[in-house]
Amino acid sequence: MTALEIVPVDSSAPAKTDLPGPKQFRLPGHLSFSALSTYAECGERYRIERGHGVRGPSYWNTVGGTAVHHVTELADRAWFGEDVEVLDFEAAFEEAIAEEVERSGFPESALRASGRASKAWPDKQNKSWWLTHGPLYVSAWIRWRENTGYRLWETPWGEPGIEVPIEVHVGGEPFVGYIDRVFVDPNDGTGVPVDLKCGNHEPKSSLQLGTYGVGLARDYGLPVRRGGFWMAKNYEKDGDGLKYMEDLSRFTPEYVDVQFAMAWRGIRAGVFLPSPGMMCKSCSVRDFCTLMGGERADELPALEVSSDMKQITSG
Ligand code: SF4
Repeated sequence: MTALEIVPVDSSAPAKTDLPGPKQFRLPGHLSFSALSTYAECGERYRIERGHGVRGPSYWNTVGGTAVHHVTELADRAWFGEDVEVLDFEAAFEEAIAEEVERSGFPESALRASGRASKAWPDKQNKSWWLTHGPLYVSAWIRWRENTGYRLWETPWGEPGIEVPIEVHVGGEPFVGYIDRVFVDPNDGTGVPVDLKCGNHEPKSSLQLGTYGVGLARDYGLPVRRGGFWMAKNYEKDGDGLKYMEDLSRFTPEYVDVQFAMAWRGIRAGVFLPSPGMMCKSCSVRDFCTLMGGERADELPALEVSSDMKQITSG
């Protein structure tokens, strides 16, 4: 498929919703890995979502994933010795739904189901699907922790390595991130960042883990050699969801810095190329995407060639 080939609109695409209108474009104060990833996947989506602040209704998978993160966090904190009450999945799920409704302004009925329809689940991964699978995901995480025996790293202020904040410069600009877990490698004492993924797709690369490795070294002086993604969808497979624990040595500070520096240059220069593809089917801001015939695309201010580009093109 060429870069500018139009992808036909899928008849199963979500119904058009009354998204709030775009705000004035704002440059970011920092980048997170998720922002870099959105920008790399589709510049136009980044511009609409993050630049103009247009956010569509979320997905059941996102809300279910939030609940899994919450319950596993509480379980890990209790394991670490903190005096916390561990919610069951259903309670955490209802909390996450209420928070999403409050945050987005859309009703619960606007939440979208994703994944494949099957005989057992003809309505895809909806609320019922999550009420069945969420508790299984949580159990798999607890099994994985028991089986590996990995110890959580302890932050300099004595907290367990859960949602570890990273605030450093990457590519010479502010970077902010929260690492789901940081464990201690029993072999050599290095830090092991682990990210919990609750969606259907495998990460396309391990750059997220490599970025966290650089962030941990910069922010805390903690060397990192390996890291891993814990895939909730693999809950029945060997390893209870941990897809791999990978050598991250190829993600040198120089390499990671360059990736973020390139993104900053592109964003500042107004480079927001659309990238049509499979993601368009579920893109929550498609209504605003000119390339895909979005009905509200004319509400976005036209992209201007930046002054840098004018100098180059007029010379
Ligand atoms: S519809 Fe496709 S091309 Fe348009 S913003 Fe969304 S992902 Fe990008």
